[in-house]
Amino acid sequence: MSLQQLKLERSSASDAYRSAFADHELEVAPGDPKHQIIRATVCNVSAPAQHLRRIVITSPELVGFKLSGPDEFFGLFMPQVASGKLHLPIHTGGANIRASAAAMPDELRPDLRWYTVRSLNPEDGQLTFDVVTHGVNTPSHEGIGPGLRWVLSAQTGDEVAIWTCQGLWHRGQRCQTLIADPSAVPSVRAILEYTQTFAPDQLKDMHVRIIAESPHDLEPLLNPNWEDELGSFDVLFAPSEKFSETTIAHLRGLNYSQHPATQSKYVWIAGEGSLCKQVRRHAISTWKLPSESVQWCPYWFLGKARP
Ligand SMILES: Cc1cc2nc3c(=O)[nH]c(=O)nc-3n(C[C@H](O)[C@H](O)[C@H](O)COP(=O)(O)OP(=O)(O)OC[C@H]3O[C@@H](n4cnc5c(N)ncnc54)[C@H](O)[C@@H]3O)c2cc1C
Repeated sequence: MSLQQLKLERSSASDAYRSAFADHELEVAPGDPKHQIIRATVCNVSAPAQHLRRIVITSPELVGFKLSGPDEFFGLFMPQVASGKLHLPIHTGGANIRASAAAMPDELRPDLRWYTVRSLNPEDGQLTFDVVTHGVNTPSHEGIGPGLRWVLSAQTGDEVAIWTCQGLWHRGQRCQTLIADPSAVPSVRAILEYTQTFAPDQLKDMHVRIIAESPHDLEPLLNPNWEDELGSFDVLFAPSEKFSETTIAHLRGLNYSQHPATQSKYVWIAGEGSLCKQVRRHAISTWKLPSESVQWCPYWFLGKARP
């Protein structure tokens, strides 16, 4: 969808879009949430790009639901067997859902992975999220984890559940840099759409860097939609083992104190673990940001599972 269409859609559906968020300012990061488990049903599966699956789930409990922020994430419970029956942990309302799931018998325990809300329609009770396939097409592919295996076999009518969590990003510091690999681009797009709706003047002080293996990893129209709206914008390409070094080389190449991104007062970074760690280190040691001004969230780890 072009930015023009997006803007039109946002203005005609602005009430629905606005009502999806509990906070229209987000001057500080969302606080600790009250978690809940919501059972839902898959109502659509599509592929917005060659290496991306878009899943829409629906539940009466999502009608009127409010997100704490645009990068709100959730735990996704999936049956171990494709399209199988979903058993859920009994939880006491505490935050340690992994322990509740681990206490279940092996044969009943659902798989659990974490995803970010791409969009929520609180009127229809529909929540959309995007999952990167990094070029894998079949659920029997060797070495893939339960998240991708489920996504590649997901069908309309499948049972899932979400463990609701919270957003991490805030717009308290006007000048900021967002850095993401393909797994976190859905979060960045949601953050930009939120800013465009609630604080459009801030876009010119926002700097975005995306690192991907190929354009197939990305929902189309990222560049034309955003590059003229933002303070600065770049998409870098490298194999996933080189996400970290390629991004750091790029950041080092920005002329310190001359490029406006280097004057950011807040850095948000999500994606592969080492990428997050290295960017955080760079922001603290070179850009001299206090550690609390760097929001970092490793979404996955190269060569190992991220339960
Ligand atoms: C807060 C949070 C939000 C997240 N949001 C999203 C989201 O919106 N979209 C999304 O796609 N993912 C997101 N993730 C990542 C997601 O939870 C899973 O890590 C991912 O789907 C892989 O899970 P898996 O079970 O398929 O593989 P795992 O069992 O975790 O790993 C199996 C193998 O696959 C490899 N692998 C895993 N991910 C990738 C990748 N991206 N590229 C290359 N190799 C990989 C691992 O290195 C490992 O060797 C998020 C994670 C967190 C913590």
